[in-house]
Amino acid sequence: MSVHQTTCCYCGVGCGIVVRQEPNGRLTVEGDKQHPSNRGMLCSKGLNLPYTVMDQSDRLLYPQMRLGRSMPLQRVSWDAALERTAAVFRTLIQKYGPDSVAFYVSGQSLTEEYYLVNKLIKGFIGSNNIDTNSRLCMSSAVVGYKLSLGEDAVPVCYDDIEEADVFYVQGANPAWCHPILWRRIEAHKTANPHVKIICVDPRRTDTARSSDLHLPIRPGTDIVLNNAIGRLLIENGHIDPDFMLDHTDGFPAYREQVLQRTTGEAADLCGIEPNAIRQAAAWIGRSKGFLSLWTMGLNQSVVGVNKNLSLINLHLITGRIGKPGNGPFSLTGQPNAMGGREVGGLANALPAHREVTNAAHRAELEAFWNSPVRMAPQPGLTATEMFEALADDKLKAIWIINTNPLVSMPDVNAVEKALKTARFVVVQDVSNRADTVALADVVLPAAAWLEKEGTMTNAERRIAYLPKVLDAPGEALPDAEIIWRFAHKMGFGDSFRYTKPAEVYQEYTQITAGTNVDVTGVNYELLRKNRTIQWPFPKKEIANNEVKNPENRVIPPGTQRLFTDHRFYTANQRAQIHAVPDGNASEPTDEDFPLVLTTGRIRDQWHTMTKTGRVAKLGQHSPQPFLQIHPDDAAQRGIREGQLVDVRGRRGEVRVRAQLTDDVRPGLCFLPMHWGKILASNQVRANNLTNALIDPRSKEPDFKFSAVEVVPYRKP
Ligand code: SF4
Repeated sequence: MSVHQTTCCYCGVGCGIVVRQEPNGRLTVEGDKQHPSNRGMLCSKGLNLPYTVMDQSDRLLYPQMRLGRSMPLQRVSWDAALERTAAVFRTLIQKYGPDSVAFYVSGQSLTEEYYLVNKLIKGFIGSNNIDTNSRLCMSSAVVGYKLSLGEDAVPVCYDDIEEADVFYVQGANPAWCHPILWRRIEAHKTANPHVKIICVDPRRTDTARSSDLHLPIRPGTDIVLNNAIGRLLIENGHIDPDFMLDHTDGFPAYREQVLQRTTGEAADLCGIEPNAIRQAAAWIGRSKGFLSLWTMGLNQSVVGVNKNLSLINLHLITGRIGKPGNGPFSLTGQPNAMGGREVGGLANALPAHREVTNAAHRAELEAFWNSPVRMAPQPGLTATEMFEALADDKLKAIWIINTNPLVSMPDVNAVEKALKTARFVVVQDVSNRADTVALADVVLPAAAWLEKEGTMTNAERRIAYLPKVLDAPGEALPDAEIIWRFAHKMGFGDSFRYTKPAEVYQEYTQITAGTNVDVTGVNYELLRKNRTIQWPFPKKEIANNEVKNPENRVIPPGTQRLFTDHRFYTANQRAQIHAVPDGNASEPTDEDFPLVLTTGRIRDQWHTMTKTGRVAKLGQHSPQPFLQIHPDDAAQRGIREGQLVDVRGRRGEVRVRAQLTDDVRPGLCFLPMHWGKILASNQVRANNLTNALIDPRSKEPDFKFSAVEVVPYRKP
């Protein structure tokens, strides 16, 4: 039997896994007890990971291509697939310029893969048209951190959980979506009954049910609530004037902003009791450790950046940052959303948190990569913009890697139309469960989890090494190898002479020298030995490769917390408190579409079910798509429990069964986002109903607020 240590490939918690492979090939997994993130625990998805690789029935095994949209896909060699793709890319670039092509990648991609695609398009093709599905989940947090702390830098770590005494969970359901973190929070609360958990969510989720205080605010009123709490912290003397004086700017304007509404007015707008806001403010104000956790409820909003800033402000006015148990903690949804950000896998970014709009940063990269082109000075197309540009024929070709936009993008009917009319679509994926494969001109089979090696970074800046354990089936290749083979076909071979991912990673670490993301001390050998390392980890840190945490456990090296000296990454080293207006700009409801639809995840499924959909056990929790609607709203519409309903919006329709529950507020309904055509039908895609509104700064879509009406389904 062989034994391997690796990392779960689902969510940003980044749990350590021990994989055992029996001589007959059977795989078993258990939580890695030595891993600092999960300490041996795994959730239902992690425990069932072996089924996702042992079942090969839906795997893409060979490159395929078709010569016309109406023609069937046919098996071809790797050379033929990559040569045709290179020929099409070269022709388009020559005729329409480098911005006529784009790569759309994934927070599931390994750091080395992200780095290579980024290098190829930005440094060699000369376009910034690379974006990631992480744009759909964390880009508002990135901009929030940059504006307030100076850089996209998560200041905290999971060990802060055991140091905190108040948790403020806003727009997140960690009980279902980050289950192992939630177990750590619950265990901490059980051992320390004075610990308080406040949950802000329009839905009564499992997180809300287990919290001491649930604030079921009206959708879109998070900033009103946070500003109201800020006002009470000021009025109750629970702010830290010395910290603000020494380390922040912007408090006077913030004070003026939050004093504009009384607690009563804020409570009315949020649709909750004033005393609930007072209670939350009192707990936060009196806490010794104030940890806030958030995900999509704040980020996936047309005012997502302002929502982030309003929450980070609470830490800055109270000085609750850079100290154990304190800080704003944006949880990443995907396993390597953080790693992708490090290597600049966004349309506006360059490796090591550099910016494409910064001439000095571009010059550094051009020199480092020995680029044959001048790098583009303006940001490329972001996720939603790519599909809009495809529809307008401004973008001619798109290469989609390990993500399934035909289910996951907002206003997905428009995305489907764009992909159907696009001139050239390449899909690189693991299985044909990804609905998008059906619309590809070229299909490239990729290796799955355990079938390739590389690194990922979890939500607490913890870099982990993932070893190759199995051979990929058929002719599937690791994603990094696909990209470097393609680069050779494009004529860039001299700069893409890699033979293994370790060489790619080493190259990346060199450009981090002296930056705030310095990982020059990290290499595969050290990662294999220490299991994980939290960045930054400059070369000089190598000697100090073992540290102990407060319980005297030896933990891997790295930087647990940022800003412990209260010097922030802004130009003047001071954090910026932003006075943010509390308005929302989501799609308006009206007589025709009077309900607000919010979308999200269920406990045992992941994204568009391309992996979890293979595991029968995981389907048992919620076998069918459903719509949660409040009983009062259902009664007004004559809708009964379990009845088939049509959910209608301005862009499309969904037909699912109704689930009547007061877990949602009146006026609100909820659809899970997982199902697509492969597992059900296009009629259950939640994103038929969502809209293309985005936050103007983060370009993140407004998934949590679309105007809809619900009617009983009647047979025609
Ligand atoms: Fe995997 Fe996330 Fe579950 Fe951990 S919490 S086992 S990383 S899905």
